[in-house]
Amino acid sequence: MNLEDIKKRALENHIPIIMDDTLEVIENIMKEIKPKAILEIGTAVGYSAICFSKFLEPCGFIDTIERDEERIKEAKENIKIIDKDTTINILEGDAVEILPTINKKYDMVFIDAAKGKYPFFLEQALRLLKEDGIIFADNILYKGYVMSDYNKHKQRTAVTHLREYIKLTTDNPKLNTKILEVGDGLAITKIKQ
Ligand code: SAH
Ligand code: MG
Repeated sequence: MNLEDIKKRALENHIPIIMDDTLEVIENIMKEIKPKAILEIGTAVGYSAICFSKFLEPCGFIDTIERDEERIKEAKENIKIIDKDTTINILEGDAVEILPTINKKYDMVFIDAAKGKYPFFLEQALRLLKEDGIIFADNILYKGYVMSDYNKHKQRTAVTHLREYIKLTTDNPKLNTKILEVGDGLAITKIKQ
């Protein structure tokens, strides 16, 4: 398997992997900030982690959290293709339980898991972020529901929490946040220096 095969297979299996334009934005920022330590919340089959690993500094690593056993199995297989001088550690279990046990600092956090937990993931990401680090949150506009007056369906809880994430990151005077309409929406947050 190569990266293209992994992507094709994920799309065939309806696994919500990162979209091309979102990936391009993140990769361009990674080229500038040259991260050594990345935390990802939501591995799925490892596609985004493998893409990010190409822009890690030598000896850099990605800690990535996933709770779905089937996906973990597939991710472990897929990440065998990465370069030898980088590492992807899959942390198995629910991010809500795993995050509070982590005591490391990261240059970059990529939030891409349960939308209803985004405010909690933000709180943890801020705790685990280096001063000059960066937080990306994928799917922040959730098919446009977040910015519309949509509040009817089963997605309501997710939409409420995504709106809360945007409010928490944009209202906080210590943070700088941009919301981009790429892919399914991408929030980019940095701590003001
Ligand atoms: N980042 C991946 C896609 C992740 S899809 C990529 O772009 O390639 C979101 C994943 O998050 C799913 O596989 C889902 O099982 C996982 N997930 C959702 N909520 C989670 C939680 N609370 N803890 C751990 N994993 C979670
Ligand atoms: Mg996503």
